[in-house]
Amino acid sequence: MTDAPPVAGVAGGDLPAPRLGDPSAPVTVVGAGWSGLAAAVALCDRGLPVRLIDSAPQAGGRARGLTLVLAGRPVQLDNGQHLLVGAYHDSLALARRVGMAPDALRRLPMRLVATDGLRLSAPPLPAPLHLAAGLLGARGLTWADRWALLRCLGGLRLRGWPAPPRGSTVAQWLLAQRQPEALRRRFWVPLCVAMLNTPAPQACATTFVRVLRDTLGAPRGDSDFLLAAHSLDEVLPAPAIAHLQMRGAQVSLRTTARGLRMLPEGAGWSVDTGEGELRASSVILAVPAPAQARLVAGLPDAQAGAIAARLAGIDHEPIATLYLAWPAELSSPVPALCMLTEDPARGAHGQWFFDRGEQQGLRLAAVVVSAAAEAAHSREALAEGIVAQLRAQLALPAPLDTRLVVERRATLRCTPDRPRVHANAVDSLTLPWPGLWLAGEQAWPDYPGTLEAAVRSGLAAAAAAASRLGAPPSSARVPA
Ligand SMILES: Cc1cc2nc3c(=O)[nH]c(=O)nc-3n(C[C@H](O)[C@H](O)[C@H](O)COP(=O)(O)OP(=O)(O)OC[C@H]3O[C@@H](n4cnc5c(N)ncnc54)[C@H](O)[C@@H]3O)c2cc1C
Repeated sequence: MTDAPPVAGVAGGDLPAPRLGDPSAPVTVVGAGWSGLAAAVALCDRGLPVRLIDSAPQAGGRARGLTLVLAGRPVQLDNGQHLLVGAYHDSLALARRVGMAPDALRRLPMRLVATDGLRLSAPPLPAPLHLAAGLLGARGLTWADRWALLRCLGGLRLRGWPAPPRGSTVAQWLLAQRQPEALRRRFWVPLCVAMLNTPAPQACATTFVRVLRDTLGAPRGDSDFLLAAHSLDEVLPAPAIAHLQMRGAQVSLRTTARGLRMLPEGAGWSVDTGEGELRASSVILAVPAPAQARLVAGLPDAQAGAIAARLAGIDHEPIATLYLAWPAELSSPVPALCMLTEDPARGAHGQWFFDRGEQQGLRLAAVVVSAAAEAAHSREALAEGIVAQLRAQLALPAPLDTRLVVERRATLRCTPDRPRVHANAVDSLTLPWPGLWLAGEQAWPDYPGTLEAAVRSGLAAAAAAASRLGAPPSSARVPA
């Protein structure tokens, strides 16, 4: 269970009662990933002056568009294949608010198709009948497996999704739920890696159950899959930047925050960019945990070291995405989305296959390997193994070209003992600096490192900053 969230806006420590900083100085959001974009848009829409900076040349952070050259042709893809679900209410609402085009996302009803014969789909019935009917009608599972799955999910639902014992892992929890070995191997373990980007023996059971509750345990549409039709850039980063610029926010890319300074007598903040100091009434640090650790480590207060050490203690897991290109007139049928059968001993590391449609006369696809530390050790072997896997499992011919993109710190490692970060606290340590807030995937405590966690954290930090500056209240959530 998450500790009770600290009250946003209350600063601890022995500092003098805070003033509100220079009201004409903007709130500065450091980091234009999905958390920073969410924070900046929320502040701007509440009428506050906003500055958004990012060290990268484009917005989007770990979920951004990427142009790759495949078979000699430039194609618009992403830094890694992403999947959104219908339960991402805040991300979807934000994308709509900033003007995402209606066809930027493709919505598919939840349907699990695996190359080992497993088929699971939810028929169009009201929840929870959709889930029960889906489980009873599942193919490729024994009756004993179907019954075990139904007993587990039905029991959780009836008991109100109770939190597993504190500190337990998904592997331990599955044993406690008496899930048969084949069901764990074929269904639960791949699902855990896909949702938490952390292997089941290390993954946090509380977070896992929370995600199950919000997807499979929620209205039917919440378990729908949503995929970027072209590129993630069109879903949030590009429309959000346009929205901000149209409303007068200052957006500075290629601008790195190298240090932070609290101005004397509560006059606000100064952000050192290496090329000058930026004045700010408040600062939202929407950067990955290691960068947050570096930036707070130099701040005055006896707790700065302890807070920085906890942030620096957040580990990460890599994700590898192999993009493949065939001629557009590929004769083999290509599934929209399909679970592959992993066999690491034979180099078959691919976990999920995604159809990426046609561009530039090419048929494109992506294969994802989450928690990819070992697999990504040899990039060439990984790509060759996946091509062979697609030939064996989907009868796909050798592609014209492939490109492997590995994000070494794709998401936080979602273990039970990871530090819990809030907008104004890390574990039990309340930030002692008035007007400084934390956002990022790590700052929505009981969710895995996901787009939705990032967006919710940005909205929560913006709500805290705005309320301190006296802007009208909003409906941003507080972590449950
Ligand atoms: C390959 C891959 C696949 C994924 N798949 C999924 C998925 O299917 N579903 C899902 O929900 N999530 C997925 N995720 C996770 C999701 O992308 C992240 O959780 C989310 O993008 C994190 O957003 P953020 O704003 O917290 O951080 P980031 O996106 O990392 O944004 C932080 C920003 O801060 C900037 N920055 C850092 N330091 C500084 C500094 N000192 N000064 C200025 N700027 C700075 C960075 O350039 C960056 O733009 C995936 C991630 C990857 C990499």
